[in-house]
Amino acid sequence: MGHHILYIEDNPDNMMLVKRALEARGYVLVEALTGIVGVSTAEEKDVDLILLDINLPDIDGYEVARRIRASSKHTLAYTPIIAITANALKGDAEKALAAGCDVYMSKPINIRELWARVEAFVPAPEGKKI
Ligand code: MN
Repeated sequence: MGHHILYIEDNPDNMMLVKRALEARGYVLVEALTGIVGVSTAEEKDVDLILLDINLPDIDGYEVARRIRASSKHTLAYTPIIAITANALKGDAEKALAAGCDVYMSKPINIRELWARVEAFVPAPEGKKI
């Protein structure tokens, strides 16, 4: 309990990388491959944190964040969202924050940064910390 992370991401390589990295620390990864599925998964399952890719095949990550924040499921107003942006220098980061994300990280994904950012919101399960 308390360690479920939803990752909304269409790229299978990133999904596998993050899945392995987070499972190694004892988290449970819940996967969603599109923005629409990501929003519905956030509403149907109790997740403790959301990792959100911005470039998705249907609605983009900004719209996903806005829909999650506007959800009638009240816990989604404050569930942490970490945006994963490909174009940090082009204003993606600022737009992600404006859409309701708490923090952002840039691609390519750095595993140590990922662990640190996730742990800032959701401590790793006991016995799995380095
Ligand atoms: Mn993508």
